[in-house]
Amino acid sequence: MSKRPLRIGLSARIYHPQPGAVGIQSKSLQYLEQSVAHWVMSREVMVFMIPSVSGDGMVHRSSIRLSDYPQYLDGLVLQGGADVSPQSYGELALRDEWAGDRLRDAYEMELLHEFMEAGRPVLGICRGAQLINVALGGTLYQDIATQYDGPEIHLHEDYDRHAHAITWEAGSGLGKLYPDSAGGRVISIHHQAIKALGKGLRVEARSTEDGLIEAVRLEGKPYVLGLQWHPEFHPPGSPDLLNCNPMLDEFLNSAKSRRW
Ligand code: MN
Repeated sequence: MSKRPLRIGLSARIYHPQPGAVGIQSKSLQYLEQSVAHWVMSREVMVFMIPSVSGDGMVHRSSIRLSDYPQYLDGLVLQGGADVSPQSYGELALRDEWAGDRLRDAYEMELLHEFMEAGRPVLGICRGAQLINVALGGTLYQDIATQYDGPEIHLHEDYDRHAHAITWEAGSGLGKLYPDSAGGRVISIHHQAIKALGKGLRVEARSTEDGLIEAVRLEGKPYVLGLQWHPEFHPPGSPDLLNCNPMLDEFLNSAKSRRW
C-alpha cells in the first residue's frame, strides 16, 4: 500500500476587482484562508488549491479540466467565503448585498460533482456546506435574521470569536463520532443557512437554540459532509469549543481508503 501523503484539493476563494481599484486589487484573485489550509495540514496531508479554469474571458488553451483533478487528489475541501447566489437555487436576491458569487458557485459545483463522480470524499465548511446543499437541489435562507424566526445569533461582530451550541441529530454519524456528548460549541460566522434539504442529504446537527441545520451528510457513497461552522477557527485544545479533529480524521480516513 502506498505510503505517500494524502493529497487534498482546496477550492479557491475568488476576489473580483471593483471598478476603479488599482494595483493588485485591480486583478482577479484566487486565494485561500490560511487557517483552513493549516487545519487540514495538521495531519500528514499535502494541500493543493484548485484555481477555477475560466474567468476574465480568457481562452485557456489547455486540455486540463476540473474533471482531471480527482484523478490526482484524494479528497476535496470546499472553503468558506462569499454567499451562495440565490440564483443558484432559483431565487432572486431580495437585497443587492445578498447577491452572492454565482461564478464561484458554478466553479465549486463543478468541482463537487467531479469529485463525487470519482468517488472522492468532500468536506464543505460554512459556505461549502451551503454549496453542497444547493448543488444537490436544496435551498437556503438568504438571510437568517430576517427570514428565520429564532433567538440564536449566527453572525456577530466578534467574527471568529463568536460561538453557539449545536446538538447532534439522533442517529447521525456525528453523534456516533462523539458518543460521550450531545453536541458542543462552535464558531459561527454565517447569515445564510440551509432551508430545504438537498437530495440524498440528512441532517447531522442543529443549532441548539433555534433548530437551524448546522451539518449535513450524504447518505451512502461517496463521503460528503458539510459543516456550517468553522472548525479551522477552533484553537487546538480549547476547553470551550468542540474538538473537530475526529471529523477531520473521519474525512481523511475516507480519503485514505481511496488512495492508490
Ligand atoms: Mn450557526
